[in-house]
Amino acid sequence: MCSLNGMTREEREKLSRTVLEGLSVGDAFGEMYAYGHDEVRRRVELGVPHGPWWWTDDTAMALGIHECLVRAGGIDEAMLGWIFARNFKREPDRGYGRMARNVLQQIGAGVPWEDASRSAFGGGSLGNGAAMRVGPVGAWFAEDPARVVVEATKSAKVTHWHPEGVAGAVAVAIAVSAAWRTRDLPTGEARVLIEREILGHTPPGEVRDGMEAALALDPGLAPADAGRLLGNGSQITAPDTVPYVIWSALRRLDDFADALIDTVEAGGDCDTNAAMVGALLVARLGEGAIPAEWRSAREALDFGKM
Ligand SMILES: [Mg+2]
Repeated sequence: MCSLNGMTREEREKLSRTVLEGLSVGDAFGEMYAYGHDEVRRRVELGVPHGPWWWTDDTAMALGIHECLVRAGGIDEAMLGWIFARNFKREPDRGYGRMARNVLQQIGAGVPWEDASRSAFGGGSLGNGAAMRVGPVGAWFAEDPARVVVEATKSAKVTHWHPEGVAGAVAVAIAVSAAWRTRDLPTGEARVLIEREILGHTPPGEVRDGMEAALALDPGLAPADAGRLLGNGSQITAPDTVPYVIWSALRRLDDFADALIDTVEAGGDCDTNAAMVGALLVARLGEGAIPAEWRSAREALDFGKM
C-alpha cells in the first residue's frame, strides 16, 4: 500500500472526511444561529431544531478541495478551479460572496484561474474564503506540516491571490494538522503544540500579527469581547477572522458543542467562524465528539455527486 510518512492513502481520505463532518456541522450550525447569535447558548439549551440544517459555500468549497485531493492526491490548481466553478454552477445559492461569484464565473467561462484570482480587487482577494474551506488539506497531509503549507497555499491562490488570504488558509490548515497530531495529548500540551505550529508556519503579515495578539489574549474573556478586540469576521477578511477563530477553538479544545456555541456567540461571520472551529476540533477529537443529534440534523454530505 502506498504510504507517505506512514499515513496510507485510505487514512488520508478518512481523516479528510472526518474533518468535513466537523466543518460542515459548524458551517450549518453557525448559519442557523447567526441571527440572534448573542442568545445562542440559551436557544441551544431549549432544544436544537430538527434538520435539515443547511450548509453553505464553506462546505461546498471544502467538498471541492476533498474531491481534488481524492482525484489528484494533492492540490492541482487548474483542477481545483474547475471543481469550484462546476460546484458553483450547480448550486449558485450556497451563500458565496460577491467576489467569489465573480472569480468562479470567470473560471467557469474559461478564464485561467491565475488571471481571475490575481485580478480580484485589483491585487487578489484577502477574504476569509480560502481559510474557511482548507480543513481537508490539513487533514490529508496531517503529519507533514511543510507539505501542509505548500498545499494550503496552492489551494488558496486559486481564488485568493493576496498574501493575507493565503496566510489565513495556511494558519487554519496548520492548526487542523497540528490538532490531529495532539489527539493523544492532554489539553494543555495540545494547546502549546498547536500554538507553536501556527506561529512557526504562518507567514509574516496582518494575519500573523493578529494571531500573536489572539494567543496572548485571556481565554477567560467573553467571546463577544474577544471578537471586538480581534475582529469577528464581520469584514470577511482573513485578518479579521482567523485570529478570533483560533482563540475560540483553543479555549474549548475538548468540547465540540461548547466551542461552536461560544464561537457563534460573538457574531460576525458565524457560519465561517464555526466551520473553521468545527474542522479544528474534530481533527483532535474525532467524529464521536459531534453531538449525534446535530450531525444527523445537518444536510447530508453527498460525496456521490462528485
Ligand atoms: Mg458560508
